[in-house]
Amino acid sequence: MAIPDAQEELCPECGAPIRGVSECNDYLNEMIRWDFQDFLGVGQIHHLTVLSYNLQHPRVYSPKGLEDAKDSLREFLAHPEAFREHDARNREKLASNVRDWKIAGTAEDHAEYSSQPEWTMRASDVVEAGLPRYVENVKKWARSIQHSLEESGNLTH
Ligand SMILES: [Zn+2]
Repeated sequence: MAIPDAQEELCPECGAPIRGVSECNDYLNEMIRWDFQDFLGVGQIHHLTVLSYNLQHPRVYSPKGLEDAKDSLREFLAHPEAFREHDARNREKLASNVRDWKIAGTAEDHAEYSSQPEWTMRASDVVEAGLPRYVENVKKWARSIQHSLEESGNLTH
């Protein structure tokens, strides 16, 4: 049926349709389940999945945390072969940085984009396309986020 459903709910942050799930975070949880059961060796993509989800839900970050997340995205996309190394280095970096600033946003202090990006791909798209295409789709999703952030002036080239 092509008639839009007036009752259709959209995620207030990324705009994904949340029919069939209670909130957008359920899509993330499904992907994390795939990561940890590591079907087809997909667990290697876990960091990029979480990063992509969070970048589309920036309120989870403090303003400084969001800037760091954007740097991580750029680094992942420039050096996709360094995923595992990044994982180890990032853990050390997080441990030292946590002392100096908060990564997590709070109700009073959280990140937002100066202009709302137009997302072309969301967590719901990755989950709906299914596990067999999961790894390739997370990479595609991450690249689409970089593109949307650049287009909206939230990320410099
Ligand atoms: Zn969402």
